[in-house]
Amino acid sequence: AVIFDNVIKKYGENLVINGINASVRQGSTVVLCGSSGSGKSTLIRMVNRLEPISGGRIFVDGINIHDALINVNKLRSGIGFVAQSFNLFQHLTALDNVAIALRRVRKMGKDEAASRALTQLRRLGLEAHCAKYPAQLSGGQQQRVAIARVLAMEPKLILFDEPTSALDPEMVGEVLNAMRTLAEEGLTMMCVTHEMHFARQAADQIWFLEQGNLLQDLPAEQFFTGNENERVRRFLNSIN
Ligand code: ATP
Ligand code: MG
Repeated sequence: AVIFDNVIKKYGENLVINGINASVRQGSTVVLCGSSGSGKSTLIRMVNRLEPISGGRIFVDGINIHDALINVNKLRSGIGFVAQSFNLFQHLTALDNVAIALRRVRKMGKDEAASRALTQLRRLGLEAHCAKYPAQLSGGQQQRVAIARVLAMEPKLILFDEPTSALDPEMVGEVLNAMRTLAEEGLTMMCVTHEMHFARQAADQIWFLEQGNLLQDLPAEQFFTGNENERVRRFLNSIN
């Protein structure tokens, strides 16, 4: 589980996360939405310390992750991050892109890493593409390799920051389908996305951020059905 305890983030004098209290249950999927600049990326980037925190605490499975004594590399190997850009190594095959972290971070032998990488690529429907280099893969396939790479580390939590916003429209669906499957399998996920159809199907809980405040934190069903909040309704109308 993830617990946000009065989390604050400032850039200089600029308060961009304004005392957030919320939690993500083990095995649940939270979708974060809200307009541009509302603080979605900043909030999830603090969860694996891509950004330092300015106040409050974030606990992941009971561990205060901004504690000075935490080993950041170890922390990040347990908290996967999937960004808009895939950041694959261009000189490595899909299989080696997934296996490399297992070898380097987990110190796994070559064969074991390769076999585990293959399992994850299969899970994402990429078995036929294992030997290809990123340049030989579509954007959607590359993003699924990036997700397989995260899954191979057996993270206790996966963070997604607009994983489909850099994709051609016809590739968005395959990535969202993969994410929906992971949500159904009970992974703990926090996803920033504007894909409200996906949110409705895959999310347990929706967080709506507005200028660094958590304006709503509702079960998906309640968020989408009969939401009376004027601000949220305007947002939903503007993106559909
Ligand atoms: P978008 O939907 O456009 O991705 P967002 O909700 O992810 O927006 P953030 O990127 O978290 O928003 O930004 C929140 C606020 O923090 C914005 O006002 C932004 O200008 C500011 N901000 C973000 N990163 C930095 C930074 N590195 N330095 C200074 N200000 C920043
Ligand atoms: Mg963002």
